[in-house]
Amino acid sequence: MPTDCLFCKIIAGDIPAEKLYEDEDVLAFRDIAPQAPVHFLVVPKKHISGPTDVAEEDEKVIGKLMRIGSKVAQQEGIEQFRIVFNNGEQAGQTVFHVHMHVLGGRSMQWPPG
Ligand code: 5GP
Ligand code: ZN
Repeated sequence: MPTDCLFCKIIAGDIPAEKLYEDEDVLAFRDIAPQAPVHFLVVPKKHISGPTDVAEEDEKVIGKLMRIGSKVAQQEGIEQFRIVFNNGEQAGQTVFHVHMHVLGGRSMQWPPG
């Protein structure tokens, strides 16, 4: 685990976060700067820098992000939501530990800005 990775630190419990779901593979926690009434992140516990770094052996856990994200969204009271993965700075990625945003509770525009 890279010692400078913010989400690895949250996973390790070194930085506090409002956890919504946790098991041996994944963690879901509220985004610190929510962009919608419901906005949380789902991350694999394994450090993977971003979507382009997902290896074949990671396919199962990346699929699990979607299953758990949907389950937590329901727990949060939303049936409709947007899922976002940013890859690279130009796309808006600021934390280089792959994460799935789940946003909902308001209407969304398309295309995104
Ligand atoms: P990105 O821009 O890389 O796709 O998303 C990173 C997300 O992490 C942002 O939405 C940002 O608000 C969130 N974030 C950054 N630092 C923290 C933190 O310390 N705690 C939590 N819970 N979220 C964070
Ligand atoms: Zn990490």
